[in-house]
Formats: sequence, structure tokens, C-alpha cells
Amino acid sequence: MTFPTATISVTALQYNFKRVKQTASNSKVMSVIKADAYGHGMATVAEALKHSDAFAVARLSEAVSLRQHGVTHPIVILEGINSADDFQLAAELRLSPVIHLSSQVDLLSSITLDQSLSFNWIMVDSGMHRLGIRPDDVETAISRLKASGNMLDEFGLMSHFANSDLVGDSRNQHQLEHMLNLKHKTGLPVCLSNSAAVLAYPESHLDWVRPGLMLYGISPFGGKAGTDHDLQPAMQLTTQLISTYDLNIGEQVGYGGDWTATQQSRIGVASIGYGDGYSRHLSNCSEVVIQGQRCPVIGRISMDTICINLTDCSQAMVGDEVLLWGRSELMVEEVAEYASTIPYELVTVLSKRVNRDVIDG
Ligand SMILES: *Cc1c(COP(=O)(O)O)cnc(C)c1O
Repeated sequence: MTFPTATISVTALQYNFKRVKQTASNSKVMSVIKADAYGHGMATVAEALKHSDAFAVARLSEAVSLRQHGVTHPIVILEGINSADDFQLAAELRLSPVIHLSSQVDLLSSITLDQSLSFNWIMVDSGMHRLGIRPDDVETAISRLKASGNMLDEFGLMSHFANSDLVGDSRNQHQLEHMLNLKHKTGLPVCLSNSAAVLAYPESHLDWVRPGLMLYGISPFGGKAGTDHDLQPAMQLTTQLISTYDLNIGEQVGYGGDWTATQQSRIGVASIGYGDGYSRHLSNCSEVVIQGQRCPVIGRISMDTICINLTDCSQAMVGDEVLLWGRSELMVEEVAEYASTIPYELVTVLSKRVNRDVIDG
């Protein structure tokens, strides 16, 4: 057996996709599969979610890799691109780089691509102030892009919420109003909602939705789990218990001796560490599940191993499965809180050393 293993359930991915379709039933779905599909495996997820109307990734390299895997859907590059060569490649591969900067419009007005770009999206800065063209400048940008001769007349407007995980926050309403105004003025389709907005903000669904996290069965809201929204976790992260031993009172565990036995204790070692992407911020504060029972992670996370307090789990044996997250006994959202981060980060940073095992495909 290879471990650690991230077991990826195709059934769960497809179930979550169906939940997106039910929730935003009048919208097309652009499935976000950037960052190796949030650590779940980009090619696997693209295949599982082939009924998506389009895919979105962050970078050109990710889009090229999807084409190499035979994906023929429209593919949107959310970060856009900035050189003539990259625009040539994008056009050749029928990729759709988001236009978010006037210098991209300038560049496209000054070159002649061998093929036209299609399925073109303008990123509008409706209030997040990260990437995007100001609402007042959008119509000029589109007419210049049309005049460039490098683009088919297939445009859409995109924007991104800065606070969609804060339900009822008035800043979301302001961003939505900017986009509704532009939709009214231009008649173009709008794509605005990430997972949190799909789940909590139906007025924002509009023509296209753009969920990532919820496809993986994870909740974007603090204090909630995917199962609270009837989503199924698509990743189970497990490894193996590779040692158990006893400690006397006063003996310490691991680097720095950050945990000291205050009673006669039984300790286990599991094969996973920060070298696999299991965050070092989980030192002395996480939990795992062995034989259905919660056990505390103690001491510092090492590169390859973690130590576990088995004192109250005396039946645990070398060779046992250790669940790090992904079942109802222990969800990734809870582990993210232990690490003072968001579940996005935990699943995305899993390293190549973690075996990916795709099931129910
Ligand atoms: C990552 C990303 C998404 C997906 O967001 P989730 O919160 O994972 O649903 C949507 N749009 C943009 C621009 C993104 O960068």
C-alpha cells in the first residue's frame, strides 16, 4: 500500500456538480479547476465534470496542460496573459485569457493573431481591487478589442466578490449593482458567483456561475462544513500508523520537546508531514481519526511524520489507517481552523509525494 493517499471520489465530484446545477439552475457553469483542481488532480476533475459548460484555471500553463489531456471545452485563464507570443499560443489552442488590463487591450490592438480569440471575458473591477478594468472603462475596452480584428464577437463580463463568504455584507450588493448596470448597458452575459455566492446569494447567479471549492465538497463559510450544504467531500486524506511506543511521565516528544507526557502515555507515529503538505501550523493542535476514534496530534509536525497521543486509543496498532480529513468524523474545514487557515489552502498545498487514488470513476 502506498501512503499517504488522497482518495478522490468521482461520485462526490459529480454529486457536488449536480448541487451547483440545482442551486443555480438558470446559469451555465464554469468549473474552476486551477491549482491542480485544488489539489484533487486537474485531469481527473476535468473528466469527472465533463458536463461543465467551461473550465477556468489561473495560468496559461494550466490551460495548455488541459488541452494536452484532450480537454476540448472552452478554457478561461483567469489571470490573463501579457505577451504577443502567449496570445498567439492561446489563440492557436482556443484558450480564453481574461482581459483585465488596458495594456492587454493595447497589445491586442497592435498585433495580428493567426487565429481569432473566442469566448472572450473582460474582468471588471467591481470593488475587489485586485484584477480588473474599471466599470467606466469597460465599453471602450470592448470596442477597441472588437476593432482589433483579433477577437470573435463573443464577449462576457466577469467580476469577483471580495466578501462573498460574509453573508449579507453590503459590499456584495455594491459589487452586484455594478455588474447589473453593465449587463443592462452592454447586453453581455455576466459571470460573477464563486462558491459562496452560488450557495448564499441567488441574485448574483446571472448567466454564468464560477464555483471552485464547493465542487470539492468543501464549505467556503467559516464554522460550516460542506455537508451543511448537502455537499460531499471529494477528498479523503489518509496514511498509516508506522510506530507505537510508551512514554514515561516527563518524557518529551519530537523537535523542541514541545509536548511532555504528564502521565504514562502511549504514542503513535503516522507517515505524513509538512513534506506532504500537512501544515506545520498543525503542530500540537490537530486531531486524526484511528479506528473511528479521535486522537490528538502532539508535538511539532516533522517533514515526514506526525506524532499522535494514543493513550485513550489503546487498540490502535502499527498498520492502522490514520484519517487526516475528509470523512464526517473529521472534515477538512475543522482541520483548517486548527491551522488558523482556510480549507482552500490545506487541500491545495498537498505535495506530489501524496498518492492520488481515484475511486468510483
Ligand atoms: C478561484 C476563483 C474562483 C473560485 O472560487 P471558489 O471560492 O473556490 O468557488 C472564482 N473566480 C476567480 C476569479 C477565482 O480566482
